[in-house]
Amino acid sequence: MDLKGKKVLVVGLGKSGLAAALFLRKRGAQVTVSDMRSAEALARDIPALLEEGIMVEAGGHGLLTFRRQDLIVVSPGVPLDTPELVQVKKLGLPVIGELELAARYLRGQMIAITGSNGKTTTTTLVGEILMADCLPTLVGGNIGVPVVSLIDESTDGSWSVLEVSSFQLESTIDFHPRIALILNITPDHLDRHGDLEHYARAKERIFAAQDANDFLVLNADNALAADAAGRAASQVVWFSIEQAVERGAWVENGQVLYRAAKGAAPQPVLPLGEIPLKGAHNIENVLAAVCAARLAGVGAATIRASVKNFHAVEHRLEFVANICGVDYYNDSKATNVDAAAKAISAFPRGIHLILGGKDKNSDYSELNQLLKERVRAVYTIGAAAEKIESQIRGVVSIHSSGTLEKAIHDAANAARPGEVVLLAPACASFDQFENYEQRGIIFKNLVQELKEHFICPVT
Ligand code: ADP
Repeated sequence: MDLKGKKVLVVGLGKSGLAAALFLRKRGAQVTVSDMRSAEALARDIPALLEEGIMVEAGGHGLLTFRRQDLIVVSPGVPLDTPELVQVKKLGLPVIGELELAARYLRGQMIAITGSNGKTTTTTLVGEILMADCLPTLVGGNIGVPVVSLIDESTDGSWSVLEVSSFQLESTIDFHPRIALILNITPDHLDRHGDLEHYARAKERIFAAQDANDFLVLNADNALAADAAGRAASQVVWFSIEQAVERGAWVENGQVLYRAAKGAAPQPVLPLGEIPLKGAHNIENVLAAVCAARLAGVGAATIRASVKNFHAVEHRLEFVANICGVDYYNDSKATNVDAAAKAISAFPRGIHLILGGKDKNSDYSELNQLLKERVRAVYTIGAAAEKIESQIRGVVSIHSSGTLEKAIHDAANAARPGEVVLLAPACASFDQFENYEQRGIIFKNLVQELKEHFICPVT
């Protein structure tokens, strides 16, 4: 679509909304931005927008603003059932997200990665492997770089490796990745998607426009992700840590193997011992990345070398320090119960676990079996503390620490050499922090401070 002279409304002025507005303006569109937040709250971005000739509507949405458009671009943070959007959709106005917009102008091929957990880790790893193979590679999406900002750099030969969330996928129409990955589907964001069924359907939009020339990589060990195979028109490639697959990657006798086609001989890719990340979930991420990279034509030797050199992404089961023989790990990105369960599973026992934050309608009793087996004590923080305590009571010893600082100190005083203090809160962060990154950074700073001042108990 030629954007010159077209009237386009961008709804929601987040990072990707801002990038979309500037992109559209550069292509000659008449752009308006509409956001519910007040002009004061948007003050940082408004001058730059006005300077570019972009109109700004702050403090609410006017239905007239919405009606006068040729195209509406919605930010992932804006629910599609916002009344103004519902109305204009009824009028037949096209409503798309930043991902759909960008994908229409992006050149080359796309690898799109979704899942409840593991997206950033896998996206980063796939990007590093492709770069190590000297393929022209761009990395973006939900990972923090808006997809529109990749357009100018993209060429017919480039690979765009995109982390895509269910919110971004909800508003896609023709989005057509050459290789799509669904890492797993477990309960998350049910506060917005309603139920697991709707959430799974949003994720499945990742392959809705694919055809028989494309590939869909699925986790054979995750029932909801695997179930998508029956609805895909593309070629399904599997990964599994539990069983051999007819096409794809799996683990056997301590090796990662890959079978390129049904009936073909499996090819060894790397020994498990060379994966420098903790936890079985990270083996899953590596298997998924192996599939994507092999499908993009990267050889096993390059994949092996890249995996060996890969470091945990910040806030994802990241080692922070050893204090008096106790390891401290920052998994602030464990914002849901499944991610926290995976983090607990990465350590055999002796875990001092910091749980809590803003509840997302989660069921923390799902952790009880793991708590019983591996966790010495739980330290609760934030708004969800009471709910968590009521759901895990009697399973494990609980300290109502309240704040992150107090939790670290309580855990440090209780932990013995060889044990682990783990921040894997299973909750969002917004009750006490700006976001999970800030929570993780504060955790790391507090742990470093503790390292300087803590006097090891005599054992
Ligand atoms: P996302 O981008 O999907 O949120 P991340 O790579 O940022 O994924 O990891 C989010 C959280 O989930 C972290 O706590 C991480 O340790 C955990 N995690 C990573 N990979 C997986 C996986 N495959 N399954 C479950 N949890 C995972």
